[in-house]
Amino acid sequence: MSVATYSNPNICKIHNRRKLQQKGTRSAKRRLKAMSGREKRFMKDTNHCVSKKLANQPGVAVFVLEDLSSIRTQRRGKKMNKWLGSWAFYQQEQFLTYKAEALGKRVAHQDPRYTSQKCNICKHIRRTNRHKSKFHCKNCGHRTHADLNAAKNVRDDYVRFVHSKRVEILRDEWQGKEPDNRDSNLTTE
Ligand SMILES: [Zn+2]
Repeated sequence: MSVATYSNPNICKIHNRRKLQQKGTRSAKRRLKAMSGREKRFMKDTNHCVSKKLANQPGVAVFVLEDLSSIRTQRRGKKMNKWLGSWAFYQQEQFLTYKAEALGKRVAHQDPRYTSQKCNICKHIRRTNRHKSKFHCKNCGHRTHADLNAAKNVRDDYVRFVHSKRVEILRDEWQGKEPDNRDSNLTTE
């Protein structure tokens, strides 16, 4: 099974806007105001473009996204929470889901707890491992981009989850139990 993960493919596209917000000068604010009128169309086009590229990634059968429904308010900055709560973010998920499914692929969701604090190499969890976009493990010294480290954790957690579910199913079958309470999304190819 091949699995791809991503946290937020639009980050690069909204970078300009964020830069303008940070600048906060009068001209930057004016430009930002002008942009927001076109924002919906811009985001829709961007979402179509990004989700199409992602869905068409060769050799990828499952896209694992962070399931952010329960912890949206806990672990991100204000700007990130706003983005995650936005219609554009959900549109991105919807576009990716239907484009992927049209190609016989699948989108799955994974609990994202500790994915940003956990080192993908040694699995050490510490809040201070992450500082903004930089990840630096206080245990093994591993350094990388924080989003890349988190995305790898989401992927690995999902693979581990699927594997444990399969073991459970095999054990139940061996013990002759009815296949109840199973995640119908899980495939056992
Ligand atoms: Zn480490």
